[in-house]
Amino acid sequence: MFDQIVIGNGSSAVHFIHSAMLGSEAKFKSDKTLVIGKSDLWSQTPSGHALGQTPAILERRIGPVAPSTATETPSPTGLPTAQYETAGSFTRYLDRMRQQINEVMYGKLYVTNDTVIANGVARAGNGFEVKTSSGNVYEAKSVIVASGLGPANSLPPIELAKAELGKAYAEPRDYPEIVDAVTYYQTKPPKGHDVLVYGGSATSAWASSHAWKIGEASRMMWMCRRGIDQISTEGNPVGRNSEVIQMAVKQGLIEAGEIKNIAIDLGAGPGEPRLMIELKVYAFAGHERDARTGDLVSKRDATGDVTRAFRAHQLVYAVGSDPLGSGGPGSILSVSIRDELGAAYAKDSQFQTDPNAVLLAYTTPDEKLWVVGASVFGALGMPDLRKVRDKYAKVGDFLTQSGTPPEGIAILATTLDALTGRFQTNPATFEWSRARPEEIVKLLKDACGLDDGTAQALAQSLVTVRADAKFALTPAMIRKTVADFNDVYRTRVDVTPLRLPA
Ligand SMILES: Cc1cc2nc3c(=O)[nH]c(=O)nc-3n(C[C@H](O)[C@H](O)[C@H](O)COP(=O)(O)OP(=O)(O)OC[C@H]3O[C@@H](n4cnc5c(N)ncnc54)[C@H](O)[C@@H]3O)c2cc1C
Repeated sequence: MFDQIVIGNGSSAVHFIHSAMLGSEAKFKSDKTLVIGKSDLWSQTPSGHALGQTPAILERRIGPVAPSTATETPSPTGLPTAQYETAGSFTRYLDRMRQQINEVMYGKLYVTNDTVIANGVARAGNGFEVKTSSGNVYEAKSVIVASGLGPANSLPPIELAKAELGKAYAEPRDYPEIVDAVTYYQTKPPKGHDVLVYGGSATSAWASSHAWKIGEASRMMWMCRRGIDQISTEGNPVGRNSEVIQMAVKQGLIEAGEIKNIAIDLGAGPGEPRLMIELKVYAFAGHERDARTGDLVSKRDATGDVTRAFRAHQLVYAVGSDPLGSGGPGSILSVSIRDELGAAYAKDSQFQTDPNAVLLAYTTPDEKLWVVGASVFGALGMPDLRKVRDKYAKVGDFLTQSGTPPEGIAILATTLDALTGRFQTNPATFEWSRARPEEIVKLLKDACGLDDGTAQALAQSLVTVRADAKFALTPAMIRKTVADFNDVYRTRVDVTPLRLPA
């Protein structure tokens, strides 16, 4: 029997094991851990792909290797160049983390390249039984679900058309005609095809960029329900996807609307598009304030909607993920375990908040099964958990702007540190762009000898400055914040013991 089974072997799982290894929480310590999982999102992504963040917020300071980054083209963020972390660099970083874990947990860690099946995690005796697709059954005292967001979500007309294409009379083509955006991005698209990209998230922007630059699409439409309002916000965190969005706006490729129906033209010639997509294109009149965000958004006038046909070789869809889909983090848990799950909140001292303001994970009442990392964002498809999941996104309020995507690495790493009680104390390797307020308070007290009140107030100022920063809380920002603090409060905080780089 294992002490602990960790399901997943990507950013969430690796950060969990690393944090648990270094943290103070006894309930996450293990003398025999089994990791079940295959390759993660980033190891399957083209290595030169730029993530939406810089290494300052994505990487722990675990070794001397400098991360490589991708040049931003053009530079809408105003950064010089070469700032974003690449998928290849991040994958090498995760491997260095795995190596460090192996060294510390030598003889205590087992890894299997396998997949947990639907309803594969169930209670058995005082522990759990975990079943995998290769027929193995493992037993453990506790289980950690860290298996990501789940498979791509879909829509009824898309599923109907896929079923139609799967029938014997529809001779398959040598490229997927209907494909989710992540799979599309991870493969070389056929050149010069007509493509409809459906969705308004950052993932849809990746797909559009791929269709444009690698696929050299001859005709392209990019559609989502809120059109450019959605694409320019959700689709463009910190300006990362500005280039493709500017191109699409200039070329008039973006429409607001929805897919009504997809018919397959089986009589189409070999090179001709055979997806006949019927679209409802929304009409807009003026602007109104969004009730949730207060932003000015286009006002829909449904009486003006029009139906339009678009013929495409390929339909690429990006409509989120489905935690209850095949192998997703919700689907692998037995129904009774899913029903047991509730929220695990941060202590109020950890983020200087009111009680129960920040969600870290979901757990069973006996704290033997945990759902952590990006899987928390999807709420396992459970309505009750969905009600509290915004409190997971709340962690982003304490990070830089680029760290705010709720399914992202910055939030998952920060919540896992908080959950496992990992505390950074060394000024030389302190992660200023991601440290929790309580870690900053402790560092200021220990290194600079500040009293609790002064340390709390200065930490709050630093976190406020950090939340306004795009990518990192830089040494210059820290020095200036401390100088301003000294001016306002007539204190004499000396930054020398913080050992900030020049
Ligand atoms: C298109 C896209 C772009 C993104 N861009 C960014 C970005 O720029 N920056 C950012 O911070 N975040 C980004 N994200 C968010 C993403 O959630 C994180 O970057 C990160 O990949 C989450 O890590 P993870 O380990 O939770 O999930 P993944 O990286 O998806 O890894 C999941 C792991 O779980 C395993 N697994 C899955 N199901 C099972 C099962 N049933 N049994 C056993 N093992 C299983 C997999 O094999 C894998 O090892 C993006 C997400 C998407 C989809």
